[in-house]
Amino acid sequence: MTHVRRQLAAVTAALALTATSGAMASPAFADPRETDKTATATGYGGAVSTVDPEASAAAIEVLRKGGNAADAAVAAAATLGVTEPYSAGIGGGGYFVFYDAKTQQVGTIDGRETAPVGMPNDAFIDPATKKPYNFTPELVTSGVSVGVPGTPATWERALERWGTLDLGQALKPAIKVANRGFVVDETFRQQTLDNKLRFDAFTSTRDLFLPGGDAPAVGSVFKNHDLAATYRQIAKEGTDAFYGGPIAEEIVKTVQTPPKTATTGLPVPVGFMTTQDLANYKVLDQDPTEVKYRGYEVYGMAPSSSGGTTVGESLNILENYDLKGMTPVDALHHYIEASSLAFADRGAYVGDPAFVNVPTTTLLDDVFAKERSCEIDPTAAAPKPVAPGNVKEYDGACPAAVAPLAKDSDTENISTTNLTVADKWGNVVEYTLTIEQTGGSGIVVPGRGFLLNNELTDFSTVYDPKDPNRIEPNKRPRSSMSPTIILKDQKPFLALGSPGGSTIITTVLQTILNRVDLGMTVSEALAAPRTSPRNGATVSSEPAFIEAHGPALEQLGHDLVPAGDAFTSAAEIGAATAIEFNPDGSLTAAAEPERRGGGSAMVVKPTKKLGR
Ligand code: GLU
Repeated sequence: MTHVRRQLAAVTAALALTATSGAMASPAFADPRETDKTATATGYGGAVSTVDPEASAAAIEVLRKGGNAADAAVAAAATLGVTEPYSAGIGGGGYFVFYDAKTQQVGTIDGRETAPVGMPNDAFIDPATKKPYNFTPELVTSGVSVGVPGTPATWERALERWGTLDLGQALKPAIKVANRGFVVDETFRQQTLDNKLRFDAFTSTRDLFLPGGDAPAVGSVFKNHDLAATYRQIAKEGTDAFYGGPIAEEIVKTVQTPPKTATTGLPVPVGFMTTQDLANYKVLDQDPTEVKYRGYEVYGMAPSSSGGTTVGESLNILENYDLKGMTPVDALHHYIEASSLAFADRGAYVGDPAFVNVPTTTLLDDVFAKERSCEIDPTAAAPKPVAPGNVKEYDGACPAAVAPLAKDSDTENISTTNLTVADKWGNVVEYTLTIEQTGGSGIVVPGRGFLLNNELTDFSTVYDPKDPNRIEPNKRPRSSMSPTIILKDQKPFLALGSPGGSTIITTVLQTILNRVDLGMTVSEALAAPRTSPRNGATVSSEPAFIEAHGPALEQLGHDLVPAGDAFTSAAEIGAATAIEFNPDGSLTAAAEPERRGGGSAMVVKPTKKLGR
């Protein structure tokens, strides 16, 4: 797919004509020249990597004005809600990871969406037919899959715990971008076109994202005054304005009676959310997961995300092997097998720990990993799916062979967004946020300018009382989001994360291996072609990966198939961001050079001497 870069300079004049509200004194926006896309930036004084130059510029502006990494991360995330509205925004949830330079501790916030209290465990069964709804279109475009959003509460909590700005100040750059607009690129247009049928099904979504009946043209300026007004209200009144009052009432009305157009043929099952669900929503302060890998300390997100346990278990398994001493193909074979084993355990044991007993300590135990590594044949791929390990009894010795499991389907889709920020004091944020599907539920809250998520599709669709990810009222669906901060002797070495549904886990894992074991720089590690082993019969891979390694891996018994699904037109896996902390004190921000149209890496000062 060819991508057109956001031509900010070309529309500076047009943007200048846009009157912005005088109600709030907005910080000066970063110099538009700095919003050109750059995949790698090295420098000092703070750094940011996001998928979008507007969001990166918002973070840099906050850092320059003395804000810290938490402040800048919230400013960037709110801006992504404007410029990447199909991936993330206040209608969704996410996971925020923070390294505090003063205490040298990593803390996390679980801002995952929850199921409404009134959601029955047969919510995904069609009452008319008594059969499960189809995933597409019924569940994906529905009120029933809308979880109670966690993102506004995450921003508020992150600022309260670690920030120096209040929410009102942190939202200013995003309000400015929403009002003056951003330049539509090919990725934004294509994502709109991919969703045209769904967006056309709702009056509110059609009016906002299909003006004049078509996706906004490449090069046009897209404004979202409704979202600016919603942000402004939250800026003024705090998140109470979202979790209560008119906005909450309108969210509930939208979920219970989606604003369908007269002509749509989409079924759109209705949802169960009430204003009480919104009033009761709470983010969770959580300890991170931690594993040691080749002298580094790797911190990730604990359940309700499966990211930390699955990346961590895979690394623990791989630590039993000298990947550096292997041929690249042998190292990749071990990566595929280790990841598949960890995914088997993810499926069997990981869900919301408030509802199921998740054996997090065991999944991250080196002895358990040693025992799991017995399943890896260095010369041949195991038949997939491999079975989960025994978390009740393990001693590191190789158990008797178990029969492979029945095949499972993976319905997780590719969307979401990720950002990495570091400040001059050494604080670091890794933050992944989402509305699940690209375009979420497809339903905009009328007059409010944001899409509602369809995160509850991350629950297992068929209810099984033994499944840790079964639907339960008030529960968080299992996530794959894997914001990760890696320390060396308690000082930052690398922070990274990615979107991509369950491929997030493999993107983060493969990028760590590329950097730590396979001798790549952080930028090379991000750009390298990806494969996503998730314990399926086939291994979804980018075409460039298949070209480079397909024949050799197929000889070992792996069946590589091109990535991509029914929803997206790109055969890409992930859209990662990262910052590496170099021994000389400089920072290298790395973004995707190509995927999703290319990301945006920026630093506060390109050299030690220059700058503010
Ligand atoms: N819903 C996914 C998760 O929590 C993220 C969505 C995506 O990246 O596609 O894991």
